[in-house]
Amino acid sequence: MTSGISRRAFLIAALGAPSLVAASHRERELCGVRFRELRGVGKSAARRYLVIHGDEFTARDVLTAHLQATDGFGLVVTGKTRHVTVRGLELDPNRMYSRIGAEASLRKLNPEAPDSRILATLGWLDRRREKLLRRLTPGEGGRLFALHNNRNYSIQDEIAASDAVALNEPDKPRHFFLCTDPRDFSILKGSPYNAVLQTKAEPDDGSMSRLAARRGFRYVNLECAIDDFEGQMARVRWLETHLA
Ligand SMILES: [Zn+2]
Repeated sequence: MTSGISRRAFLIAALGAPSLVAASHRERELCGVRFRELRGVGKSAARRYLVIHGDEFTARDVLTAHLQATDGFGLVVTGKTRHVTVRGLELDPNRMYSRIGAEASLRKLNPEAPDSRILATLGWLDRRREKLLRRLTPGEGGRLFALHNNRNYSIQDEIAASDAVALNEPDKPRHFFLCTDPRDFSILKGSPYNAVLQTKAEPDDGSMSRLAARRGFRYVNLECAIDDFEGQMARVRWLETHLA
C-alpha cells in the first residue's frame, strides 16, 4: 500500500521536479481564494480545469501531471484545507459560485458571525465573483472539468438529485463522473465507469453544476476516493479520449 506522501515523492522522481516546477505558473487570488494557474501544452481556451478543495491532494497531483501533456487552462487551489478564509470567515469555495450558495455556506460555517459581517462579506464576494467565473467558463464548444476526492461520500448521495444514473461499477461507488450535458452523459454511460447527469439549475446551492446549468456551458466533475492516483488518472484519460 503506497501512502499519499510517498506517491507524490514517486511522481516527482518519475516526472522530474524541474518539469513539475515548469508547469506551475503564477499564483493569483480570485474571489478571495489563492490559485496556481496551470497552462497545458497549447493555447486552447476551450478546455478549463479546476481543483477547488485544498485537502484533495490526489486530484491536485492528477491534474498537475495531466496538464503536462494536454492542452487547456487549469486553476488549482494552493491551500491545503477544504474551506478557505475570506475576510476572516470560513467558506466552502465549492459553494461560492452564487450569492445564495455563499450565504448558506458562510452562515453554516460561522454561526457566531453577526449578520452585518456576513452581508459585508457577501458584497465583497459579489464584486469579485465574475472575474473568477470568467476564468472558469470554457470557450465555444469547450468544457470545464473539475477533479475532486472524497473520504465518505459516494454516488449514492447524488442519485436523488440526478436526471439519469449509470451504475457501471457498483463496487466503486466513491468513483463517479457527474455531468450537466445529456450528450456527455450518453458517452459516459457507455464507459466502464459510474456517471450521473444533473441538468437542473435549481435549487441554487452555489455549486458549479447548478451554475453550469444556468449559464449553459458543459461541466464534468470527477469524484474519486482520495489516494487512488492511478484510478483517477485512468478516468481522466478515458474522458479526454472519448469526450470532444
Ligand atoms: Zn471536493
